[in-house]
Amino acid sequence: MRRIEHFIGGKATAASSRRTSPVFDPALGVQQAEVLLAEEPDVDAAVDCAADAFARWSESSLSTRTKVLFSFRELVNAHLDELATAVSAEHGKVLSDARGEVQRGLEVLEFACGIPQLLKGQYSDQVSTGVDVFSYRQPLGVVACITPFNFPVMVPMWMFPIAIACGNTVVLKPSERDPSPSMLLAELWQKAGLPEGVFNVLHGDKVAVEALCRHEKIAAVSFVGSTPIARAVYGWASAAGKRVQALGGAKNHAIVLPDAATDYAAMHVSAAAFGSAGERCMAISAAIAVGPVADAFVDAVAEQARAIRVGPGRDQASEMGPVITMEARDRIVGYIERAKPAGAKVALDGRGLVVPGHEDGFFVGPTILDQVAPDMEVYRDEIFGPVLSVLRADSIDEAIALINANPYGNGTAIFTSSGEAARRFHREVRVGMIGVNVPIPVPMAYYSFGGWKDSLFGERRVHGEEGVGFYTRQKVVTERWPQPIDGGASYHFPTAE
Ligand code: NAD
Repeated sequence: MRRIEHFIGGKATAASSRRTSPVFDPALGVQQAEVLLAEEPDVDAAVDCAADAFARWSESSLSTRTKVLFSFRELVNAHLDELATAVSAEHGKVLSDARGEVQRGLEVLEFACGIPQLLKGQYSDQVSTGVDVFSYRQPLGVVACITPFNFPVMVPMWMFPIAIACGNTVVLKPSERDPSPSMLLAELWQKAGLPEGVFNVLHGDKVAVEALCRHEKIAAVSFVGSTPIARAVYGWASAAGKRVQALGGAKNHAIVLPDAATDYAAMHVSAAAFGSAGERCMAISAAIAVGPVADAFVDAVAEQARAIRVGPGRDQASEMGPVITMEARDRIVGYIERAKPAGAKVALDGRGLVVPGHEDGFFVGPTILDQVAPDMEVYRDEIFGPVLSVLRADSIDEAIALINANPYGNGTAIFTSSGEAARRFHREVRVGMIGVNVPIPVPMAYYSFGGWKDSLFGERRVHGEEGVGFYTRQKVVTERWPQPIDGGASYHFPTAE
């Protein structure tokens, strides 16, 4: 059985880890590797190593850092297919989707290559007679990046390129479900010339996460995952005095207005609900059909969804792969089973789907639940699978009120041909990322990504300017070079003169 070790100080190591977790091939439903789970001494070893490296890396020049970043960018680009294959093999998503996630990660890396521009400070000449003021940013120290299974390349790359570009060192704790892509990234960093200890990968579970959040040498924690764990991480890390951004789960709604092009809306809602088997934090999991459009919309989405080719991710013909584990599959099937007795109408049932040659794979077919009401568990919970709930509303006001009453606020979209309705929608919804006729409005790297309400705990979102702000601390220097006679001491509070 292939064993996946940690990557600490430039080499793969088991450290003192003994416990392991299985890594599955979700398409075949068989274990393909085991990954080590760190204990507290392993956390100490990784953090100590990153802390030693910080002393040198934080003093490296901007041009040194930029050279390493550009080399890493070239290497990630050259190994894009290899990375996508590694993602697909353990996550299960189809190769085209895996390539897309590496590409979106690359975009953050390209943003980070502009770090000399991003770290420019401000300067005010002559704020008082003979006095100048300037500000600049310094790195924090060792940053822990704790990431979910659903984007094993993109989500870590929302974080570490910017953290490292800013002069920090990193301990990445990827998901134990699909740990291999992180190891590939570590090798590529090494080839790019990143000094040992600047980027470390520590595999693990709750033990590692809690120890990282409380570790005295960790300066900041970037977390992405489900809301209960995001809330816990925020609590642990902020109680230990760390800077923390913890992105949580989601229930993303799409409103379909009667003036929308129904087929266009159905095509995009289907892609956003069932792409990556619905295992995206920006997946559309609830559609609100407004007024008379509902029946035609449900029929059109069902027609789209029925045509989706479900199969192993590695098969170029597949459009949707399996879900991550057997437990996830059973959990999702349980939601579908309980939906009908709760009052929903099953418009498309993905249970019992069998993919020939992959009978033990963790497959669930696209599922559409119509006539869903806000008090049903399929609406309240984040299912994180290929299940679309359709709700019906009489007006845009009712639809917006539903979105605003939901505890999550990650992404949302509206389908309409009315500029007035679109403007009202984006101004009134209490959600962080909004699409107008765009179903998955993931911001580009030079904007910041993050939701509202239970989808983000902490002040700052990831990447873009907020990412640079998160991984640095600002200083403001007030400076005077005194003349031989300077007027003597003054005891009033400093004011400009
Ligand atoms: P998860 O919360 O189970 O795991 C995330 C990380 O936390 C992993 O590294 C995992 O090892 C660790 N972890 C798991 N249980 C823990 C515990 N009890 N204590 C401490 N650490 C623990 O999430 P997941 O299932 O890997 O990923 C799916 C979730 O992530 C979904 O809820 C999805 O919406 C969310 N997500 C959110 C975003 C976003 O940007 N808001 C992006 C991607 C995924």
